[in-house]
Amino acid sequence: MDNQQISAQISGMKMDADILIVGGGLNGPALALALASGGLSSVIIDALPLATRRKPAFDGRAYALSLTSVRMLQVLGIWDAVQAESQPMLDIKVSDGRPGEGAAAHFVHFDHNEISEGPMGHMLEDRYLRRALLDAVKASKLITQIAPAKVEAQHISAGHAEVTLEGGKTLRGRLLVGCDGRRSGVAMRAGIARTGHEYHQSGLVCAVSHEKPHNGVAYQQFMPSGPLAILPLKGDRSAIVWTETTERAAVIAAMSDRDFMAELRPRFGDFLGEIKLVGKRFSYPLSLTVATEFAQSRLALVGDAAHGIHYLAGQGLNLGLRDVAVLAEVLLDAARRGEDIGNALVLARYAQWRGVDTAALTASTDLINMLFSNNNPLLRAARVAGLGIVNAIPSARRDFIREAAGLTGDLPRLLKGQPI
Ligand SMILES: Cc1cc2nc3c(=O)[nH]c(=O)nc-3n(C[C@H](O)[C@H](O)[C@H](O)COP(=O)(O)OP(=O)(O)OC[C@H]3O[C@@H](n4cnc5c(N)ncnc54)[C@H](O)[C@@H]3O)c2cc1C
Repeated sequence: MDNQQISAQISGMKMDADILIVGGGLNGPALALALASGGLSSVIIDALPLATRRKPAFDGRAYALSLTSVRMLQVLGIWDAVQAESQPMLDIKVSDGRPGEGAAAHFVHFDHNEISEGPMGHMLEDRYLRRALLDAVKASKLITQIAPAKVEAQHISAGHAEVTLEGGKTLRGRLLVGCDGRRSGVAMRAGIARTGHEYHQSGLVCAVSHEKPHNGVAYQQFMPSGPLAILPLKGDRSAIVWTETTERAAVIAAMSDRDFMAELRPRFGDFLGEIKLVGKRFSYPLSLTVATEFAQSRLALVGDAAHGIHYLAGQGLNLGLRDVAVLAEVLLDAARRGEDIGNALVLARYAQWRGVDTAALTASTDLINMLFSNNNPLLRAARVAGLGIVNAIPSARRDFIREAAGLTGDLPRLLKGQPI
């Protein structure tokens, strides 16, 4: 167990850190680093051993990090460690298609040259980001990691938050943050309900290598059963997120690699030449799960613990990093003003700031998925016409590019590339 205790003496009561963070996936470490950059200490507790989370092998997962998420990683000193492994995402091409027929004639082409800020994002494999975050956490004097350790209970009182680990050890801080994923125990123990639904779809995820270069272009092709995303990775490789109905995905997932590729090829098309499977294949059920409250007195939820969305938007991690940037800013500003960082009014600022953004994205993702994941001839004609119209209107294209780059809304300082 990795446990160098940091003791903070606050209001006469001994604390293990300012903030207790349950969950050391991606958002937990990012939050701890953002807080440490402004002088607040935290303890990260995770049920999985550190070595497992550093995951040296490719697990099929790659992120489309928006331009603003990249700015935040730059400020936190993470970007230098991963930039060489990242692939700038220059353009996005969206089309409506059917297997075997390829993309419909009308597609929308979003070109990063239409905005002045640069590439709208970067593709980065999960394993590189995870490792860089955990290495930075290890190097920080203000962050303690406790792992493997499962949080089994929590108690909120007027002056502090306390968690009890498996085995009985207790830890105390001024605030408890749940970064513990879609099935957040922190939310559950606090009595926070969740809303959402199943999409009755699964995401088939893998990477392929191809003969021709992708030139930094991402493709989103809407098939009747769900979208097929082809996302550029470093080198002549692309990440595939292929959405199918749950039943069909189970059949495809059970196929041999050879049969799987025979199914993928007609959907993928031949524009990048011959394609080959690289590494393992994965299948993830898709659902929407949103917590009904993002904060209570001495408690906040961040990342998938607050909102798990459809991968179609490619925004799950970007949303989590926005939570991190907003919560860190709200807490550090409060601490600098001498306010109690666990106070319900301070945390309400966080919940309010993030609530609007999350509601808008989950609603638009649901709508796009509903409109595009079907084979109704009337809807298909409307879709194709709609894509053609969007493509013809430069301001509509620019709005989308700014949205994909994360440049819209009320941005916290870290997402503007400024220190907190
Ligand atoms: C195939 C796939 C592709 C994706 N693609 C994208 C993409 O392109 N762009 C994007 O933005 N997002 C993407 N996402 C979503 C993204 O992966 C998630 O949003 C992100 O990983 C969530 O991170 P998190 O830190 O909030 O939670 P998690 O990664 O779920 O981490 C939660 C942590 O909490 C720990 N924990 C849970 N309970 C306890 C407990 N009781 N005690 C101690 N520890 C506990 C767990 O061990 C775990 O380490 C994708 C997801 C998948 C599956």
